[in-house]
Amino acid sequence: MTPSTQTFKSNATAALADAKLAKALSGLPSGLVAQRTAAKGRVPEFEALRNAARDIRDHTLAHLDLYLEAFAAKAEAAGSKVHWAVDAAEARTIIARLAQQRGVRRVAKGKSMVSEEIALNEHLGALGMDVFESDLGEYLLQIRGETPSHIIAPAIHLSQDQVEADFRKHHAQLDPNRILGTPESLVAEARTVLRQRFLDADIGITGANFLIAETGSAVIVTNEGNGDLSAHLPKTHIVLASIDKVVPTLVDLATLLRVLARSATGQDMTAYTSLLTGPKAASDIDGPAECHIVIVDNGRTDMLKAGLGEALRCIRCGACLNHCPIYNAIGGHAYGWVYAGPIGAVLSPAFLGIDAAGDLPSASTFCGKCEEVCPVKIPLTSLMRGWREKKLASGAGRRERALLSAWAFFAERPKLYHLAARFGIATLSALGRSRGAFRRLPFAGRWTATRDFPAPQRRTFQQLWAEHQHRREVPQVPKVPR
Ligand code: SF4
Repeated sequence: MTPSTQTFKSNATAALADAKLAKALSGLPSGLVAQRTAAKGRVPEFEALRNAARDIRDHTLAHLDLYLEAFAAKAEAAGSKVHWAVDAAEARTIIARLAQQRGVRRVAKGKSMVSEEIALNEHLGALGMDVFESDLGEYLLQIRGETPSHIIAPAIHLSQDQVEADFRKHHAQLDPNRILGTPESLVAEARTVLRQRFLDADIGITGANFLIAETGSAVIVTNEGNGDLSAHLPKTHIVLASIDKVVPTLVDLATLLRVLARSATGQDMTAYTSLLTGPKAASDIDGPAECHIVIVDNGRTDMLKAGLGEALRCIRCGACLNHCPIYNAIGGHAYGWVYAGPIGAVLSPAFLGIDAAGDLPSASTFCGKCEEVCPVKIPLTSLMRGWREKKLASGAGRRERALLSAWAFFAERPKLYHLAARFGIATLSALGRSRGAFRRLPFAGRWTATRDFPAPQRRTFQQLWAEHQHRREVPQVPKVPR
């Protein structure tokens, strides 16, 4: 995926003008947001679980080398082969080599954000392999030539009508007069089309929500069961996971799963939670003959060194996106790369550099809702603020710097500040009194391009406050009874 983070502002402007997108996103408050609130309400110990989840992630990240080595030893003891990749290119090369050595032509793929991060599909496709996305949302995007716009609901920007039109266009082998007017009929059609492709696949590639150091297991969490089919039906299963996915024990996993499903979809537990430990054993009825686990760093060690380790707590639930007013207005594609929303505004500058993705951390009102709902308590606003400071320190945003310097000049001189504020407010009040609001203001052209600027009251807040205090301090003369 070629990043378009550098054009974030124009991406966002285009997204704001997209009525279909606005309609699709309007379902978030009553959907995923409301479902999470209800799920949280059913668990009185939810806050304690969030604290525990945060502590598990922090502990693991502080001892990452130890737990990764423990995981690799257990996984290999269970019959898997573990491969280490420093960056995206090495991960792609390892997976391509494994596939080519087996003469692979068809690949069944489960949903994986890290595979988007390393542009795996494009690489395998260029080598002549037919990769099909088995998650329904990802499949829709694949046939449309689009990228995910949400961590857990990748096609959230699409309407049912769009899906129906795409199915009619791409499933031309099916009866053109079939009825496709309901979600059930669309899902049934996807199942029919995809089932054969699972059976035809030479290898399956999935991500992993977690890697368990205690057992050497890769954990896949899905609501469609497509991860299990991708892992079990082909002869070879390749797991692609980043180094931060490891957790110490099954007990830790239980804690993380309890907050993950509730934060993501409001479910008590995701429909399919599978622990995959090695290839098919002699006593198993099914499963892959071989299992490879590719663990990729791709900049995460540098993030730890740079003090961004808190961002690596992320368990990809998507709650911060669902609750973010900016994401709700512009959707995920405007962010221009794999990760959207508040966590995208933190991760993208780390992966792509502040020059390429420096506008993303400014895409926040700092309302703090993202931190409030994050199941592992990532201080997202502080991390975004850190990026903003880095961007300013790098010399970018000269206009903002000039404005802030001017503001600082007045703020350090309170008498001058109050005088200037009184003058400004009185002038705007006099100019706008007859109209009630300004349609256009020369120094706030972009702001007034989409909304009116109300004409201020005649006096400043400080003046009103001073008058209020004065009234309270002047003793009231008791009324003389008549
Ligand atoms: S930052 Fe927190 S809320 Fe956002 S996706 Fe990650 S775990 Fe979920």
